[in-house]
Amino acid sequence: MNYDVIVIGGGLAGLTGAIRCADAGLKTVVISAGESALAFASGAIDVFGIGQDNSFVEYPFAAIRQLPSIHPYQKVGAASLQQGLTFFTEQMAAAGIQLSNSGQQNHGRLTALGAIRPAWLSQEGAGSLPLLAPAEGIRRVAIINIAGFRDFQPALMAAGMKQYPGFSEAEFILADIKTATLNINTRNAYELRSLELARTLKRDLFSQPNGINILSSALQKAAGNADLVVIPSVLAVEGGNDLIRQLETLTGLRICEVATLPPSLPGMRMASALKQRFRQLGGMFLKGDQVLCGCFAENRLCSVKTRLNPDMPISASHFILATGSFFSQGLASDRHHLSEPVFGLDVDAPDSRDQWSDHRFMDGKPHNFSHFGIHTSAQLNPYRNGQKIHNLYCAGAVLNGFNPVQEASSGGVAISTGWFAANRIIATIPQAEETC
Ligand SMILES: Cc1cc2nc3c(=O)[nH]c(=O)nc-3n(C[C@H](O)[C@H](O)[C@H](O)COP(=O)(O)OP(=O)(O)OC[C@H]3O[C@@H](n4cnc5c(N)ncnc54)[C@H](O)[C@@H]3O)c2cc1C
Repeated sequence: MNYDVIVIGGGLAGLTGAIRCADAGLKTVVISAGESALAFASGAIDVFGIGQDNSFVEYPFAAIRQLPSIHPYQKVGAASLQQGLTFFTEQMAAAGIQLSNSGQQNHGRLTALGAIRPAWLSQEGAGSLPLLAPAEGIRRVAIINIAGFRDFQPALMAAGMKQYPGFSEAEFILADIKTATLNINTRNAYELRSLELARTLKRDLFSQPNGINILSSALQKAAGNADLVVIPSVLAVEGGNDLIRQLETLTGLRICEVATLPPSLPGMRMASALKQRFRQLGGMFLKGDQVLCGCFAENRLCSVKTRLNPDMPISASHFILATGSFFSQGLASDRHHLSEPVFGLDVDAPDSRDQWSDHRFMDGKPHNFSHFGIHTSAQLNPYRNGQKIHNLYCAGAVLNGFNPVQEASSGGVAISTGWFAANRIIATIPQAEETC
């Protein structure tokens, strides 16, 4: 099997790069071992939300100019970041998911614990709030759950929101909608996880012609005259947030959904929309297979072997490695060493374990291991035993030089580096075909 591009890892970074390659007409395959971090993520895209002093960043594109040269944003440049985000927004729209932003500014998004987090791109229905004055115009907040759903706790969320100026004076209405009111049949308590609940609602409620009206009446009754109604994200596994829009029209209420404990449906919707878009563009997605190793010649990667087909190498002229961080096993560690497990690429991390983390592990400061990752050139090519691999590019959380949690930057880094890697390949592929 021979491709123009093999993308290893089907998360946000890998799929953005793969869609860009497929869109440019390259024969592209994604090989992905398992679910990506998107199944845990909010479904919003953080670009750069938290500064060095831990304060919220209002203008992310201006703030990234100050970052050190090792940071992925400095390697791809501000223009690639903006172009990548525009491309991503268009591709998601083509797959049925509308994303919105507030121009150059970050907005606030609510978490299920009632925290406000800075984000730049949010799904419609996620109810973005002004970042620095989130409670503007909101005096009454209704937080409504579906009775028995344990992965969302209205009281906990209200307690979190009350920590913010503006919300501390607001009135909170906490209520449950009974499953009997919605005519849904949950056979056992374990069914009430977000994914199963969404499937049950689809089967029992939304299959009825007046299903949406039943839900809107229940919501209206529970929420009263709230200025903001928060519900857990349990209404749809795929597609956009038409249901929230319809509910707003029917009730006249301002409604926002928040991602719950995993699985996070907004993140899963984004993952499935990306895969759908990639396939629409003619890409091949090999789900559940794992790249084990590669064959190198003259500082170029020529082919990879996978767990399901170890005797059948898959070759390509170019490759993108987007296997994620420790979370997705793109990086690995034993007691004394950090490594990149597929190709043995050079990892930027100190040898001494003492320098991996702060001794006071839980005191809220960033730990060094958060910015460990693969060392790359300015064009995102990695090194292997000190030698640059010219036709391999790295993207997303596998990269070194940034701290996704501390900066709130992971979505933007994944998208911009996936986009940048794909563009490098598109620009060089005619020469590459002659040499590998
Ligand atoms: C709990 C959590 C919440 C988050 N919330 C947000 C948020 O609100 N906003 C935001 O912007 N970002 C968020 N993120 C981050 C974001 O989703 C990811 O960091 C970002 O998507 C990085 O994507 P990635 O593609 O680099 O890696 P990943 O999403 O980790 O994907 C890597 C993929 O590679 C596959 N893989 C690994 N090794 C191999 C191999 N050898 N062969 C084949 N496949 C392999 C994995 O199975 C996985 O599918 C969150 C992350 C986590 C963990």
